[in-house]
Amino acid sequence: MTPKAATKKKPPKKQSPKKATAKQIKRVREIVEELKRVHPDAGIELKYRDPLQLLVATILSAQCTDVRVNLVTKDLFKKYKKVNDYADANINELEEDIRSTGFFRNKAKNIKACCRQLLDRHSGKVPQTMEELVVLPGIGRKTANVILGNAFEVPGIVVDTHVKRLSNRLDFTTNSNPDKIEFDLMELLPREEWTLFSHLLIFHGRRVCKARKPQCESCSVLSNCPFGRENLK
Ligand code: SF4
Repeated sequence: MTPKAATKKKPPKKQSPKKATAKQIKRVREIVEELKRVHPDAGIELKYRDPLQLLVATILSAQCTDVRVNLVTKDLFKKYKKVNDYADANINELEEDIRSTGFFRNKAKNIKACCRQLLDRHSGKVPQTMEELVVLPGIGRKTANVILGNAFEVPGIVVDTHVKRLSNRLDFTTNSNPDKIEFDLMELLPREEWTLFSHLLIFHGRRVCKARKPQCESCSVLSNCPFGRENLK
């Protein structure tokens, strides 16, 4: 995810996804059941104790691994405990504290500005709706869905680089725009499964369906994957 500038944003326009056919839904169901079997541990890997920590960790995770973010937040969360700590932070100090996650200047600016808005507009709490989240600095639909799905159990589909790649390879969508992909995927599964669906695709993308060398020959969803069958011809 490209870090977002700390400027005021407009809410995204409504999308018009294509309606999924019964055949598509059946195929997705088979894939999901198989992925559940193969990745029973699928879930969020960022470590956090409350919505604010998850918000900060998710902003830090842009262009960075979850392992690296967890290393950084281990100390960060001991130093910055409340929303005021980030909002009133010395920007240079905050930058140093998160430097190893990359894009640290933009991330520090966004975290500080975001926490300032949480104090000014939300009584210091992380809001629980997409509309309120996506207008905060540094928060796009992807980050908002991570927060909603994992901190508040509000279902959401997180379209990161893995979900984008797998959704195209598995022919869940023909779109390349993450927002359009998200709306296409929402048509394929019941709402209550959206969050787990994202985790399953992310785990499969990390472990099997890698960007450069997908392991199609040993992939358990090969029989349902057009890209994989083509790849092995
Ligand atoms: Fe990815 Fe290949 Fe599996 Fe399809 S068959 S999901 S391309 S690893």
